[in-house]
Amino acid sequence: MLPGHPEITLRPFPFPYRAALAIASDIDVCTPATFLAVHRFLNGELGLPVADSCFGVGQEPGQLAYFLADGRTPAPTAPLLEAAIRDGLIDSLHSWGDFNEAPPEPKFLRHLALTFTEHLQRAGLSLKIWINHGSPANRQNFFTRTQSEFVGDDPASPWYTADLAKALGVQFYWGMELTPWPLSIQAPWTRPAHWLRVGGNSLKNLAKMFLGRRSQQRRRDQITSLAVPLTLRDGWPVWAFSRFNRHPQGLWGRPNRHTLKYALAPAVLGQLVQEAGFLILYTHLGMPRSDPGPLFLAPDRQALEFLADMYHHGVIWVATTARLLTYRQVQQTLRWDVLRQGDQLGIHLHTVADPLRSLRQPTVEEVAGLSFYTDRATATKLFLDGRELATRPMPPDHTGRGGLMIPLPPPPATACLEERWPV
Ligand SMILES: [Zn+2]
Repeated sequence: MLPGHPEITLRPFPFPYRAALAIASDIDVCTPATFLAVHRFLNGELGLPVADSCFGVGQEPGQLAYFLADGRTPAPTAPLLEAAIRDGLIDSLHSWGDFNEAPPEPKFLRHLALTFTEHLQRAGLSLKIWINHGSPANRQNFFTRTQSEFVGDDPASPWYTADLAKALGVQFYWGMELTPWPLSIQAPWTRPAHWLRVGGNSLKNLAKMFLGRRSQQRRRDQITSLAVPLTLRDGWPVWAFSRFNRHPQGLWGRPNRHTLKYALAPAVLGQLVQEAGFLILYTHLGMPRSDPGPLFLAPDRQALEFLADMYHHGVIWVATTARLLTYRQVQQTLRWDVLRQGDQLGIHLHTVADPLRSLRQPTVEEVAGLSFYTDRATATKLFLDGRELATRPMPPDHTGRGGLMIPLPPPPATACLEERWPV
C-alpha cells in the first residue's frame, strides 16, 4: 500500500514540531576559545542542538583548524575537533582550508586533503556535509554557477580533491545558493508568494540568457526545495542544499553573531511556522573576531532565546544541519506500506532515494524522528528490514491527530566543551 493509506499518513516533521531550522555556521576566523564559548551558550545554556563546521587548515593566526599551517602537523586543538565531530558538535567540512588570499598549491592541497581524510578515517569519523568557502582563490571549492574558478570537483583540474570528500562521507554540499525565505513544504498552488518567487527567477534567467550568462541561471527547484539532486563534474551525485539569510543589506549581508536579530527575527520564525518550512541559516558564529563586548549582544541573544523557546515548546524543530538534511531526504523519498494481520497493522519501511533516484534501504539512524498519524496507534507496529523498531505513542498534535513515532536521537553531547583544551 502507498503512503496515501487512508488510515495512516506520514507527518512532515517529527512530532510535535510544525517547522524545522538548523544553524549552519562557517568556521571563518573562529578561535578555539570562541568556538567553546559559543557552543557552551547555544548547546549548553539554551539547549539548542547546533553543530558547526571545520577547516583542515587555517590561514589567520589563531584560526581553529585541524592542522598547523604546514597542512600536515595536527594542531594542539585537533583532539578537540575530533571529540566535537564524534559528539555531533561538528558535522560539516568548510572545504579543506581557508585560501582566501591565494590559491593553494595543488600538491599541497592534495596532500592536505589526503592527510585530513586519513586522520579522520583512522579515528572512525566522517563528515556528511561540504560547504564551499570564501573568495575565488579557493579553487578547492566545488561547482558553483557563479564562480568558474571553483574546480575542486573537476577531475581535469590540478585542484581536484572531490574524491577525498566522498571518501570522508560527504553526501550534501552547499554550492553558495541562498534564499531570503524559508523553503516551504506546502503545495505551491496554496501560496501566491511561491509563484512570485518562481516568476522572478524565470525573469532573471531570461535576462541572463540575453546577457550570455546562461551558465549562471538558477534552477527553479533551488529556490523552492531545501536540497536538490546534483551531479558534480566528476559524476558524483550529491544533494545540493540552499541556505537562508535575511539582512538589511541584502541576501549576502554579512551574517554573523551580531546579525542573528535579523535572520532569527520573530517575523522570520513566524513565517517559517506559517509556511511549514525548512530553514538552514547561513552564519559565521566566530565573527566578529576581536570584540571586547559580550559574546552575543542583547538583541541577538534575545533572538536565540526566542528560538530556543519555540524549540522547547515543540513548535520549531531545531536540529544539526546533517540531521535536518538527512531527515528531509528520508521523509520526502521514503517508500513504505501497511500490512494487516488480524487486528494488527504493520508499517513496513522499505527504501529511500539517493540523488541518482536509485533506491536503497535506509538505516535505523536515518529513520529517526519519522512520525505517523493513525487512529490505531496501539495496534500498529513499525518495521525496517523485517525488524520491529522502537516507537513511542504520539499524542494529538495541533491538528488534533495522534499516532506513533520513532524517537529522535539525543542532541550532540556537550561534555567535550567542558574539558580543558589548549585555547
Ligand atoms: Zn567561509
